[in-house]
Amino acid sequence: IKKIGVLTSGGDAPGMNAAVRAVVRASIYYGIEVYGIYRGYDGLINDKMEELHVRSVSNILSRGGTFLLSARSEAFRTKEGRAKAYENFKARELDALVVIGGDGSFTGADIFSQEYDVPVIGIPGTIDNDLAGTDYTIGFDTACNTAREAIDKIRDTASSHDRLFFIEVMGRDAGFIAVNSAIGGGAVAMIVPEHNWSIDQLIKRLRKGAANQKASNVVIIAEGCKLGNAYDVAAKVKEQLDYFDIRVTVLGHLQRGGSPTTMDRVLASRLGVAAVEGLRDGQSKVMVGVINNRITYTPIGEAIKTVKRLDDDEFRIAKILSI
Ligand code: ATP
Repeated sequence: IKKIGVLTSGGDAPGMNAAVRAVVRASIYYGIEVYGIYRGYDGLINDKMEELHVRSVSNILSRGGTFLLSARSEAFRTKEGRAKAYENFKARELDALVVIGGDGSFTGADIFSQEYDVPVIGIPGTIDNDLAGTDYTIGFDTACNTAREAIDKIRDTASSHDRLFFIEVMGRDAGFIAVNSAIGGGAVAMIVPEHNWSIDQLIKRLRKGAANQKASNVVIIAEGCKLGNAYDVAAKVKEQLDYFDIRVTVLGHLQRGGSPTTMDRVLASRLGVAAVEGLRDGQSKVMVGVINNRITYTPIGEAIKTVKRLDDDEFRIAKILSI
């Protein structure tokens, strides 16, 4: 391996810059040339790339977003688009590709790698934490901290006015951000896509809290939950619980931004170095992750296919602590 390309794709996540920095510096450390590809797969298709040096990645460690820019490339979903991408890949004499992104980006990488026998390695970068093959994805810790900080602030006003707040957090079809920020933020309940909690169960929990003179009432709603969005759930609760002043806050994209936490920077740094070392060792079509604090390489197809489960124990803990 003499020359590699690195790109960020799909939704951006805090810590992606730290991962790019690690890929660039580890490559140079091992005597490999590294090209930064701009706007995800679109950059590969349109040949928007340039060589990165040690100093090209100065002062990006603490910045959210991705300086390589990201994109959802429709063209890469087509055979013709990927053919163009391969033409540029060959013309630039790249030997391998590092893709930082989520499951969609890895699906694209997997298909590209099978079509053209190109070595690829994926680094999980998404706030949703919904990828198997790693305990944590880059950006998840920062997103949880951002959500939890907002919950802390809302709780202040919730307790001052005896209000019931429904706070909607991101996570797509997974409840990882919801569970973590609910435990960290001391929510009375949480509704996540993985569990079939009913409105009646939620009302029962809220009534119990009221009977126990609970000082503040914050309910976390994961964006993908089956009961609807935070407004829907709030409206259904309002039909049955009239003694609460009910408010809704949707945190939205503020969860995607901000300076990455130390946890995310360290994770991104470890995974970036491990990606380069994996390529040197002949790894391909794998996603690099951390399981039980050890670097692990999981076949990309398996990482995409497997549904990562929420830890049931976290539910148990949240329930015990919300009385
Ligand atoms: P996030 O988890 O933040 O949404 P993601 O990587 O899952 O990130 P997607 O929009 O699903 O984001 O995918 C990113 C890009 O990967 C797509 O825009 C497309 O270019 C490529 N991609 C996704 N699926 C495929 C596919 N089946 N074939 C080829 N390319 C794909």
